[in-house]
Order: sequence, then C-alpha cells, then structure tokens
Amino acid sequence: GNLTDASKFISRILASVKSMTDLLDKVLTISKSDTGEHKIKPILANTYDFCHSFVDEYKILDKNNHNIYFETTDDTKQQSYIDPGLLQQILSNLLSNAIKYSPIDSDIVLSHKKEGSNLVFVVKDKGIGIPKDQIRYIFEPFYRATNTGIIQGSGLGLSIVKRCVDIYHGKIEVESQENIGTTVTVTIPEIFPEEE
Ligand code: ATP
Ligand code: MG
Repeated sequence: GNLTDASKFISRILASVKSMTDLLDKVLTISKSDTGEHKIKPILANTYDFCHSFVDEYKILDKNNHNIYFETTDDTKQQSYIDPGLLQQILSNLLSNAIKYSPIDSDIVLSHKKEGSNLVFVVKDKGIGIPKDQIRYIFEPFYRATNTGIIQGSGLGLSIVKRCVDIYHGKIEVESQENIGTTVTVTIPEIFPEEE
C-alpha cells in the first residue's frame, strides 16, 4: 500500500543522505589536512583495548559474517600516547576496506604491536586484492582499482589514511595479490605531549 511505499522512499532518502554526509565528511577531512591545519593531540591510552573495541564494533557492522579478530604478542596492559581521532580514521578505513573487498566468511586480522618507539598496525584480508600495477595509485583521491566491479566506493578512504599517516610522519605499506588478499601495514611513531 501507500504507507509502505512512503516508508520505502523515506529509508532510501535517509540512505542517500547518509552516503552524502559520509562523502562530505571524507572530503572535509582531506581538505583540512591539505591546509596543514591538523596537529597531533596525544592522549595516553591502551592501544590494544582501542584495537579490540574496533574489531568488536566492526563485527557488529559487518553483514557478511567475516571472521574478524585481533592479534598481538605484546603485554596488552601497556599504554601509549596516541591521537585517537587519527588512529580511528586509519583503522576504520582499513577495516572497512578489508570487509568490503573480501568474501563472506573469510578471515580478517587486525594485529598491533609496539616496536621500540613505533606503533605498528596491520590489517590483513583474503579478498580480491589489488592488481600489481595499480597499487601505486590507490592513495590518490577518487582512484579505484579496475577489479572492484560492482563493489561501491568513492575512492577516498585510503587517501584519508595516507594523510593521517603523513600527519604522523609515519609510513604505510601495501602488499597485495589479486584473488589472494591484501595486507596493509601502518607504522607511526609514538608522539609525546611535550614534542608537540
Ligand atoms: P571509500 O573508502 O571512499 O568508500 P574505496 O574503498 O573505493 O571508497 P579507498 O579505500 O581509497 O576507496 O581504496 C582505493 C581502492 O583501493 C579501492 O577502490 C580498491 O580498488 C583498492 N583497495 C583498497 N583496499 C583494498 C582491499 N583491502 N582489498 C582490495 N582492494 C582494495
Ligand atoms: Mg575504502
């Protein structure tokens, strides 16, 4: 009837609004970091708990029943200075890519360790991978690899990750094989408040 038609339209409109505001959010994050406005705001936190809650959150968001888990060999009681906003952007974009580009039921691992004064985060999936000759372009805004098919995306997630990592003067490495999977490693230095 009319009522169900109306509510279908409303939920479609709401979904469009959400994807538009998400896109606008991403564009704003990028342009803000372009103007060099972003400063690191270090806060003492447990990065293992941080990763754990991320994994828990993504398990709930994931509709394709991936096996998402967190791994570390460190003593998980250690605290580190991190910028939670930057780390959240990095991890959420990497995890959402892993979920989006890998098949139902496959494994996704987030691992984290401290290496001296560096914090290392690795997101590994067993998904569609990235064609070798295209890996160099994936950090460019709006770039999408040719093997993404019908999987939706704006091509902005990794440019945001790259900018966050740059603000940190960290590094990001991508290892990927088509139809085998992708591993993204982010290494950022621990920045102490007095170093700001
Ligand atoms: P958005 O994140 O803005 O919604 P997106 O996922 O297409 O869109 P990025 O996150 O910037 O954009 O990724 C750029 C491209 O890199 C993707 O379109 C895809 O081709 C490739 N890519 C990124 N992560 C993965 C992954 N884990 N597996 C396979 N391909 C990936
Ligand atoms: Mg993405």
